[in-house]
Amino acid sequence: MCDVLEKSPKTYLIKPITQDAFYCNAAAAANPSDKECYMQEGTVYVDPYNNLFLPTTAGLQETPKAVVLGHELGHALGETDGGPGRMDNVNRFENPLRRALGLPDRTSYTVPTLMWVPGTK
Ligand SMILES: [Zn+2]
Repeated sequence: MCDVLEKSPKTYLIKPITQDAFYCNAAAAANPSDKECYMQEGTVYVDPYNNLFLPTTAGLQETPKAVVLGHELGHALGETDGGPGRMDNVNRFENPLRRALGLPDRTSYTVPTLMWVPGTK
């Protein structure tokens, strides 16, 4: 997935944010009322300080930053959080990455309770 982005003529940036992660696509970057993404096309924001717990086949688990980054890079590749249960990006990019890392699949886009813990993994 990184190979496609690296070979693209576009520039992608990864910037820190606290307790959030998102990708600024062209539509968001063109929207002056979008305070986080306006003029930031191609920017991925991820939290380098804390880890979010997400629902998986093994229950709620702390999510490694590589998985969060992979999810957001899936958006950079054009996938959305659409489809049944908003799982399109999870199914296409996040869960294959989880499997490659030996982690359980994410089972839901919706997070039952926002739970962040300090972590560096
Ligand atoms: Zn997403």
